Amino acid sequence: MLDHCAAQLRGMRQHFRTLIAARIDELPPPESAIRAVNDAMTRVPTVSLLWWDADRGLHREASHPTTQVLNYALAVLSADVAELLTSAQSNLLAACGATPCQRYLLRTHGRRQWCSVRCGDRVRAARAYARRRAPLRPLPGAQTSATPNEQPAKESGPRPGVTAPHARTRHR
Ligand SMILES: [Zn+2]
Repeated sequence: MLDHCAAQLRGMRQHFRTLIAARIDELPPPESAIRAVNDAMTRVPTVSLLWWDADRGLHREASHPTTQVLNYALAVLSADVAELLTSAQSNLLAACGATPCQRYLLRTHGRRQWCSVRCGDRVRAARAYARRRAPLRPLPGAQTSATPNEQPAKESGPRPGVTAPHARTRHR
């Protein structure tokens, strides 16, 4: 049962991602994704329904018996995505620029490129590491390859397998 639920949620997430990607790329979204969202939204009510009983009189209550909790979750998520995709905010949708992160973000300020501080830090660390590893251009007449501020390389030659940037931060 849990596997079934997880598969359903994952499937719906893929539909959401397809729709968001199409919106970002300004491409027509696949009909199957639109249908999946609409099916989810209409399978169970996403708004509180109107009820009456002698104790409480008229009242509104969400109607989702526990047997339908998954369908209810899918409906609410689908309604949120549909709302986002048709709102003015949809113009702010962007993919996170920190590969291999696959999240999307709302570019709430113009230069925002990453979904999180963590992704931003990772990209900045990788860039700094790449700069440090880049071969220095030899200056005319210069015999040494390291500038005075540069930490001399502990080992000669590049180590292709090593990508962790942690060694770099110590010398800042
Ligand atoms: Zn990210």
